[in-house]
Order: sequence, then structure tokens, then C-alpha cells
Amino acid sequence: MTTARNPFDAARPVRRRTRTFRPNYLSFAGTYQCNLACPHCCVPIEWTDRLPIPVAVRFLEQAHAAGIEVLGFTGGEPFLYPEFLVAVTRRAAELGFRFDKLMTNGMWHRDAGHLSDVLTGLRDAGYSGKIGLSVDKFHGMDIAKLAEFCRVTRRVFDKDTILSLSYASRSPDAGLEPIRRLAAELDGVIDWSELIGRYMLVSDDLTMTLNWNHLAAVERAEKLPGDPWDGEWFAEDYCEGPGQALIVNPRGEVKPCCGFASDLDQLTIGNVHTDTVEDIIRNARRHPYVGKVFREGLTAIRDDILARDPDALPGATTNHCYFCWYVLTRGLAAGVNGGGGKVGNWTGDRPNHAGELIQLGSRVRMEPSNG
Ligand code: SF4
Ligand code: SF4
Repeated sequence: MTTARNPFDAARPVRRRTRTFRPNYLSFAGTYQCNLACPHCCVPIEWTDRLPIPVAVRFLEQAHAAGIEVLGFTGGEPFLYPEFLVAVTRRAAELGFRFDKLMTNGMWHRDAGHLSDVLTGLRDAGYSGKIGLSVDKFHGMDIAKLAEFCRVTRRVFDKDTILSLSYASRSPDAGLEPIRRLAAELDGVIDWSELIGRYMLVSDDLTMTLNWNHLAAVERAEKLPGDPWDGEWFAEDYCEGPGQALIVNPRGEVKPCCGFASDLDQLTIGNVHTDTVEDIIRNARRHPYVGKVFREGLTAIRDDILARDPDALPGATTNHCYFCWYVLTRGLAAGVNGGGGKVGNWTGDRPNHAGELIQLGSRVRMEPSNG
């Protein structure tokens, strides 16, 4: 699961836009596992690790003490580990966290009764954020089941704005067909809102905003058709929207963002089993790549690479996370080893786990790892 690039997200107000890593958002992925296997997924859904609840709660308390006030959940499919969601939500509500979004594919429930029971448990634990539903051609296409998910969620939380929709595609106007089908199933319409600069799905009892994710053809999606080097350079945004976050994965590793490249080991800034929030923020600021992204921007990384070798990149791309993934897996960025990434299923070792290093700045063509 990834989050839309939105540097001006109202849910995540920024007090001072200082150019450094200053996370204002905490998100837990309690499990990697998922009931679906989307072709564009960049999560190692084959891995069975789970984040222990007491470890997550301890980190949540530290984050609260460090001034982080907003919490989200991601995965994998978070609802495959509902006891985690309930326990962490309960403690977060006690601490006064603001809940942002819980991302789900909306297809994990056995039937409406099962769905209602799980959602009621979450609501009663104090969850007051949005439920973010991923709907696009890569996710489940059982539109009737998704509509059931929407109706039951609306009823349990008794709130017409409880849901938002996310879709991954090459441009904001592309890939809306499954959402149009969902709108028809819910007797709703899709319309562009000038006010918020996004599409909305509106029906009699539901109002959902649509959040676009710029699809990055990385990891198992590397072979999807279309050239990610689309000839134009990305706009600098210092990764503010998907970044400035502490994203904790089921192994306890902490990432500074939920971008498409964030599962790479090169973007790990600490581990909740061994490091405190303060350690992790310090690590991130000193990290040769992460520190630079938030201090000087992705454009500074690009300019360094091109200054060293004007032919180091195949072209220009508007896709931040694709660029990030490419330069990290190819070992082009200063101070971090190349390697990692996975084409196909995430089984076996990954090259940089196995100790295979790629010379900084060399133009190495990575062969797909079949592990
Ligand atoms: S629903 Fe999300 S986590 Fe599950 S396979 Fe699809 S993209 Fe991956
Ligand atoms: S470009 Fe890299 S650092 Fe920025 S959000 Fe994407 S994966 Fe994260």
C-alpha cells in the first residue's frame, strides 16, 4: 500500500517547513500479508512477520512524547491482523492521537457480518480516522463486494465521509474505470471538485475523495508496459507528502516515507526493536541518502549523479519514486550501496542481504532475482 503524494494534506499540518527530516506522521504495517496479489504491489506479501503489539505500543508512546500527533495504518492488508489494529488504536486514542487513514483493499471479509464485527471492534477502540479503500484495475475487481464494504463501513461508523478512495495509475485522469463501476453500484456519481482539486465520488449517503498515486513500475511491477522514463523531470516536493513519516513495517524496520521505493533496505532508518524515536530521527538526518532527500531534495541527488556521469540515467522521469528506486537499486546515489529490489515474488534472499555490493556510480544492469 502506498499513499498519494500530497504535500498540502490537511490531515498533516506542518508548523515550520524547515528543510530537514522532521516527521509528523506515524504509520504501522502490522503485517505484510495480503489476501490479494496485485501485479503492481511493492510489498513483500509473502513474508509472514508480524509486529508484536507491545513493541508497537511502546513506539507509539515514544512518538507521542516526541510530538508526533497523527497515526495511520497500512500493510499488507491491515485487517488480516485485526487485534493489532484494535490494541494500537485503543492506546493511541487514550494518548489523543489524531487518526489519519487505514488503507485496505476492502476485499478481505468473509461476509457482511464478519465485516461488521471487525469494524465495530475498531470503532469501539476509538478509531476516528478515514478508511482508505484502494480501487483500481490492479486491485480486486469484485465491485459488488467493494460496494458491500462501503455500505457496511458507512453504517458502522455512521459517517458519510468515512471512506476515501485511492487509485494507482500513470496520470490522475487514467485508471478511473473500476471507480466508475463502484459509483454505479452505489448509485453515485464521480465529479471533479475545483475546491479540493480532486475527483469525488458522491452518492446519497457517501462522499469520498479520490487520491491518485503515481504508479511506479518497480519491484514485481517492473515489467508492466509503458516507459517510466517519460522525458520530463519530476517537480521537487522534498517528499513532503508520502515522506516526513515514521512508517514501521512488520519486521520493526522504520522508513521515512511510504513511497514505492520504501521497501528497499537502503531506506531503512532504524528498527523499533532496538532504536528509540530520537535515535531514528538522528539516523535519518545523518543518512547519506534520506538526509539529503529531506534537506536538499531529490533534485540534488539527481544533479549529483548527472554531474558525476551525464549518461548515468536513461532519461528524465516525472515519477519521484521510480527515480528513487532506480538510483538506489543501481547503486548510483552517493553513500549507499546498490542492490535490493525484487522482480516477481519476494522469496529467497535479496542481493544486498546476500552481501552483493554494486560499485557506486557504475552503470550496472541488475538481473532479475528469481529466488
Ligand atoms: S492490496 Fe495492497 S498490499 Fe495487497 S497485494 Fe494489492 S497492493 Fe499489495
Ligand atoms: S522518492 Fe523515495 S524517499 Fe521520496 S517518497 Fe518516494 S520512495 Fe520515499
